[in-house]
Order: sequence, then structure tokens, then C-alpha cells
Amino acid sequence: MDASDIEKDLTEILHTEEEILAKLEELALRIEADYEGKDLLVVGVLKGAVMVMADLARSFSRHVEMDWMAVTSYGSGTKSSGVVRILKDLDTDISNRHVLIVEDIIDTGLTLTWLVSNLESRKPASVEICTAFRKPDAAKMAVPVKYVGFDIPDEFVVGYGLDYAEKYRNLRCVATLAPHVYS
Ligand code: 5GP
Ligand code: MG
Ligand code: MG
Repeated sequence: MDASDIEKDLTEILHTEEEILAKLEELALRIEADYEGKDLLVVGVLKGAVMVMADLARSFSRHVEMDWMAVTSYGSGTKSSGVVRILKDLDTDISNRHVLIVEDIIDTGLTLTWLVSNLESRKPASVEICTAFRKPDAAKMAVPVKYVGFDIPDEFVVGYGLDYAEKYRNLRCVATLAPHVYS
């Protein structure tokens, strides 16, 4: 497999690395202003949010704590079911903490709706959501997301943490996959 193989699998680049980084800088500034004088715990949702978390966190000029959760949402193929199971829970007690969930993408909103209510049951001071991407046309549940990077069309995308069968997470851009990949 040569280095260009991965690019042959892409149809359209929706957002380049430069665009994504610039957007996360903007979001980081807003978040810093909103949380001024408050402690902040950012919670990344594994595995997809790894890249977002790394770039967002490094855009802050303040202290933040980072923790991680891994959840799985059962469903057929590329759609989530809303039935969520925790694979890895937080290491941190979030009671009375300001929690910011960091997500890669919101599609139906089912996973996040579940996650927010799970975290709220632990009595944090606040819970807000930051997502790099959102598909407004796919929403089944209205999730109040305070910080959104980009709204994208209702198409399956990969890259920048997002996978197809565990591949393509390491792409720097976000792109749609060519039909030959699925067949
Ligand atoms: P939701 O519960 O909002 O439908 O989906 C949440 C999860 O499904 C996301 O965190 C992500 O892991 C996965 N997902 C949703 N849409 C896409 C997509 O277009 N591409 C990829 N690779 N994963 C997606
Ligand atoms: Mg995710
Ligand atoms: Mg996935």
C-alpha cells in the first residue's frame, strides 16, 4: 500500500486541516470567554474525538483538565441506534465541575442525548457540548449544542478522527468516501 492509496478512496474534501484548525481556534476563544474564572473539565468521547480534543485543547491559553469516555452505540452499519453502553467511564468525579463534552460529529443526536443525561445524573455544575461537525438534516433528537464547528450535509464522512471500519481516522481533512470503498 503506497502513501497515496488513502486519497484514492475519497470523493470530496469537505473541510481541510487548515479550515478545521482555524475554526477550533475560534471556538476555543469563545469557550475561554464563557468559562472565565471557572475551572473546566473537557471530556473527549473516544475514539472519534481524539483529534478534535488534541487541537482544541492546544488552542486554549488557560488550564483545562482532560478526561475521556468511550461509549458504543449499537446499530446496523453506519447508523446509531441510541442504545448506548459505556466501554470506558470517566476517571474524574464530575460533581460540581463544569464539564464540556468534546465530540467529533453529531448525526442523529441519540448518542449525545444519552451521554448528557448520564453525565447530568452525576450532578455537575454544568454540562455543555462542543462538536467539530454536525449534520442538521439527520437530527432525530434536538441536542442543545453550544459550540459547533461546521454544519455538514447528511452524508457519511471520514477523517480527522472519524472512521469507516476503524480506518481513515488519521486523515487530516474530513471527506466523503468513494462508492468503491463500500462495495
Ligand atoms: P449519533 O448518535 O449522533 O447518530 O452518532 C454519533 C456517532 O456516530 C458519532 O460520534 C460518530 O462516531 C458516528 N458517526 C455519525 N456520523 C458519522 C459520519 O458521517 N462518519 C463517521 N465516520 N462516523 C459518524
Ligand atoms: Mg463521537
Ligand atoms: Mg465510528
